[in-house]
Amino acid sequence: MWKNLILSVVLGFPLTFQAMEENLADPQWFTNPLSWCSGVNQWITGTSKDISIHNGILRILSGKNGNWAAQNLSLEFSVATAFNISFYCKTATKASFTWNFAHQEKRLSSSGAKQLPATGDWQLVTYRIPALAEAMSLRLSFQVYGNNAPLEIRDLKIITVDPPDEGRNPFRIDGKTCEAIIYSRGADAEAFYDRKCARILQAMIYQAHGNLIPIRATSVPVKLNSAIYIGKSAEVNGLITRSDISKLNDGGCFFRVRNGNAGIVGKRPGGVPFGALEFLRQCGIFYLTQSKLIYPDKLAIDSMEKLVNPAVALRNNVEVPFMERLGYTDMNEFANGRKLGVYREGVHSIPKLVPYDEFHGEHPEYFALDKEGKRLLRLPGQRFDVHYCVSNEEVARIAAARLVEFFKSEPNAGVFCIYAGDGGGKECCCPNCLKLGSPSTRNILWMNAISTLFSKEFPDKKLITLAYATTSPPAKAVPHHNLYVAYCPYDTSWLNHFIAHCKENEAGWQEMKGWETLAPENMAAFSYPVFYRERLNTWTVFPQNYELCRYFAEKNYRAVMFCGYRATYGAGGYPASHSFADMGIYLLNRVMIDPRIDISREIDVFMKLYYGPAAPQMRQYFNRMNQEAAYRKWDQNCERILRGFITKELADQTLAIFSEAEKQVKGNPEYLERVEREKLYLLWQSLTDNCRGNGKIGPTEFSQYAERIGEFCRVAARYKIAYMQVNPRQWFWETAVIKLGNTIPWFNDPLIHAIIQNPQKALGESIPNAQQKMAYGWLIQAQGAVGGENAQSTWKRKKTKHVKILRRPSSGLGQVQLSVRLAQALTDKAILAVEGIDNEKTDPAFMRLIINGKTIHDGPVPWGKNVWTEEKFEIPPGLLVKGDNTITILNTTADKEKDGVGGINYQAKRNYYWGWFMISDTKIYLHP
Ligand SMILES: [Zn+2]
Repeated sequence: MWKNLILSVVLGFPLTFQAMEENLADPQWFTNPLSWCSGVNQWITGTSKDISIHNGILRILSGKNGNWAAQNLSLEFSVATAFNISFYCKTATKASFTWNFAHQEKRLSSSGAKQLPATGDWQLVTYRIPALAEAMSLRLSFQVYGNNAPLEIRDLKIITVDPPDEGRNPFRIDGKTCEAIIYSRGADAEAFYDRKCARILQAMIYQAHGNLIPIRATSVPVKLNSAIYIGKSAEVNGLITRSDISKLNDGGCFFRVRNGNAGIVGKRPGGVPFGALEFLRQCGIFYLTQSKLIYPDKLAIDSMEKLVNPAVALRNNVEVPFMERLGYTDMNEFANGRKLGVYREGVHSIPKLVPYDEFHGEHPEYFALDKEGKRLLRLPGQRFDVHYCVSNEEVARIAAARLVEFFKSEPNAGVFCIYAGDGGGKECCCPNCLKLGSPSTRNILWMNAISTLFSKEFPDKKLITLAYATTSPPAKAVPHHNLYVAYCPYDTSWLNHFIAHCKENEAGWQEMKGWETLAPENMAAFSYPVFYRERLNTWTVFPQNYELCRYFAEKNYRAVMFCGYRATYGAGGYPASHSFADMGIYLLNRVMIDPRIDISREIDVFMKLYYGPAAPQMRQYFNRMNQEAAYRKWDQNCERILRGFITKELADQTLAIFSEAEKQVKGNPEYLERVEREKLYLLWQSLTDNCRGNGKIGPTEFSQYAERIGEFCRVAARYKIAYMQVNPRQWFWETAVIKLGNTIPWFNDPLIHAIIQNPQKALGESIPNAQQKMAYGWLIQAQGAVGGENAQSTWKRKKTKHVKILRRPSSGLGQVQLSVRLAQALTDKAILAVEGIDNEKTDPAFMRLIINGKTIHDGPVPWGKNVWTEEKFEIPPGLLVKGDNTITILNTTADKEKDGVGGINYQAKRNYYWGWFMISDTKIYLHP
């Protein structure tokens, strides 16, 4: 404040500045839930039904085992050196307040707890929490213990304590030192986004150079030597004209630097905060990843002006935090679906607006009628997706009225996704619905009905629905002007996520273009840039993602949402979504802003900043992998597990490139970590595609194989990467045929330590051994076999049992191996008995049974199609030897499909729902 006083004396006019003392506690945390919502969804809770909010008071009931309510505060754009926290609490029992700071990529050790006074009366509590400069979020939590005891909280204030201005490296605007960041005071959304813009500018400049430029809110013209003016204040102060503003498209920004001042304006959605990022980018300050800030030695910007109209106005990476730093659209533009019980942009929201439990008793007619004429019914223990009778006008009316109530509570939001429950083929089949047209027509007519009612209240806000499950464009409906349609390039018409333009995606392109012809102004996309089954797969799809994003941008799609493209999280323990994730997340956004960028050049620029001296090698690796996918026309869908991409040759070549890369960055831990984390995907996939478990590693390759497992374990342990998505114990068993203990995280298992020490010795000594001694001989259960597809199955039986499904060999899931260790050779004949069942289709599956290299059976499977039976195979005398014996069962059923002859989805082209068989227990009768 003294600084303002001095300024006012020097300048000789009264200051109307207001110091920014923003309460970071969102008022929404204490507002009553929406009228139809029973739980308090805006808090992260232990037991939400024991939490309530009334008249601004949060009440937490302990239940029997204690209870808690928490908030995660994003510190994405924060300069805080401490937080002054205050609240009133009321409790008569043991209760506490705790906090901890978190970072996506590393462990931070800063947390604390305070007991709350148990006086039974309202008490004011104040704390100062010292902040960690590098923290990305702060979790605040209230706990209460005791038996059904309440804790009440109100008037929570979280006030940032600014750091002292270290005064180094002043920020020079057109030759003058910037004195303040100014925005127009107000309580509306415009002021909210202007303030956000100010915070972005302040935080990134401070994080780069340690100089704190004060933020001031004012409503009248000010006169400073040099300042950055935002939004209305830029207009008031003559830096931005109406004509400048008229050039802005949706989501766009404009800035001008002149006479020592800068002005920034933008258009929603998110244009003003985006303007801060683009202005700073012009100064050389930008985030390369969620946590890595790039900045120049000197902070300065000369006289200039720039208009940035992003080709795609709304760019969102669904459920992935800290994306605003990279220039994805401000999250506040999306109405906070958490209040409804869906996450911020959760797409299946209608079931939260018109809940089944609330209405199905009195109004069963609101819900879908199936083909047999039965109304939607919840069956215990089964997945339940809510679908509606879309011709019922009441449903649309309720949904729209509730959307209006919801949006009234979300004044800063401009958009929300609406769609019925998940799952295809569940549309209402009542006569009124059927006569409206195709499922796609019906969905658009229904969404239009909701949009029409909603738009009466909010003519400027947008709703987004999906072209999902029923992706074909409607023949008899055109979307409402406030309804965007997000096309989903996904099964059933988009089958190949490696190559954008290919036969497998032809139907998808046709549908997407059909929608564009129908409604060019309403187009959006819900895109799938990652593999949802194997996080550690390399998933070499950058070219396909680039092509799609460039296409969306060239066609000026209104919105593009990525289905969860993840950067590293969980303090580094959860790996990012596949190879080159940081680069993909960064560059795809730049492509959606401007599809004309020279992508090859941008990749080089990114890699230089990200990998330093290892950039040339990493580029070579990137190119080699993309070349492999293109050359082999790799055809894989984002939900389909397929083995064999990493051939032995590819693994040898690419791992050699990594050896070179590591040499380049040996002395730099930051670059080395990035290179090694990248290598982990390649190792994982290579060790899954070529492993002891699938019989692809011969005796001469074993030492190299063991070394690679050792390297995989070493890198994962070094960076504490615990999450593999697949179960680590299962993975090590299936691939390396070793049994880990139950140690969590897996890399702390003693066997892993032994492998890191001496992989060949540790792996050589571990014998696959799952045999159990029985009176008749030996039993090996399905979970003791290696390979095939694991399932807990009730197929044709009453009780669930662990089984192995062997699909046709092209699936990569057609082989199972069992090992039996014998103390001595068997001179008598023995019997191998395998419990199994053939698939339900007319034709039998074929199999080959091999024991120690000798084929025992080759032909149709011996089992029937309706019941599980144990079928016996004679083992000739002398075939089972002392020591390890290998039994291999292979599915040998030939594919019938021809490449490119597609049905409705990838299973139709390579439909693995025929030609399979299952096995469970395998027995060896020693003295039959
Ligand atoms: Zn109906």
